[in-house]
Amino acid sequence: MVKDLIIDEELCIGCGTCSDLCPDVFELNETIEKAYVKNQQACSQCDCEEAINSCPVGAIFWKEE
Ligand code: SF4
Repeated sequence: MVKDLIIDEELCIGCGTCSDLCPDVFELNETIEKAYVKNQQACSQCDCEEAINSCPVGAIFWKEE
């Protein structure tokens, strides 16, 4: 089962928590103040679950293909 890490841009408020916790995985586009997933593969090197659980608006989730 393939899982994709998704950020719902409609929900994201650009707080930067995810990119602070997992900078190899998430990056904040400061122009539009939205985070995006820049390298899902780097999840194996950090604790993405902490980032998912720390997002104040619940914008980060796994989507199963
Ligand atoms: Fe957006 Fe959530 Fe990341 Fe904050 S933690 S930048 S609200 S996705």
